[in-house]
Amino acid sequence: MMPGTVLERATAHVTTAVLPAVQVNVTDLTAGERAVALYASDMPNTRRRPTLEQRRAWIVQGVERLGCEEVSRRAVFSRAHKLLSMHGLESEEIQRRHDERFPKPRRLIHAEQEAANSVYRDGISPAATARNPVAVVDGECPCGSTGSIPVFYDEDCGPVNMMCPVHERAAIHAHRWGLSV
Ligand SMILES: [Zn+2]
Repeated sequence: MMPGTVLERATAHVTTAVLPAVQVNVTDLTAGERAVALYASDMPNTRRRPTLEQRRAWIVQGVERLGCEEVSRRAVFSRAHKLLSMHGLESEEIQRRHDERFPKPRRLIHAEQEAANSVYRDGISPAATARNPVAVVDGECPCGSTGSIPVFYDEDCGPVNMMCPVHERAAIHAHRWGLSV
């Protein structure tokens, strides 16, 4: 037998082999990652409650479409956008990038609700729980990464700043619970 023949056979064998499917364990995803995956999936916009299996299948589908890295990236950007917009601090640039990633706001709300349902019904792993609060601003944060945002100027007290909801998250959380950092 010619060596080339063997090579061709080997190549043919490889191309017809079934590749293992991407293993996605829903419980290893944060709520934000599940929302991103659901948004990218075939999940309809209707409010009818899906079965547990159907919801899991949509999450897996979304992860397969975007890839784990992109799902994680969009999730941390989305969280930072939410933290800033809760205080009306999102810049035009941050809002524009958010809108490009999620052009359908109502679908995103729906995906976030279903992601919350998934966390409640399917549970969440300790690693995903630890990753849940991670937020990254896509663009220039209003605090300029200093953690402090000027709010207004008081004639008696001088400039009044607020802590950045993204970059001073740990300090805000500690203050709320009476802890020192
Ligand atoms: Zn900031």
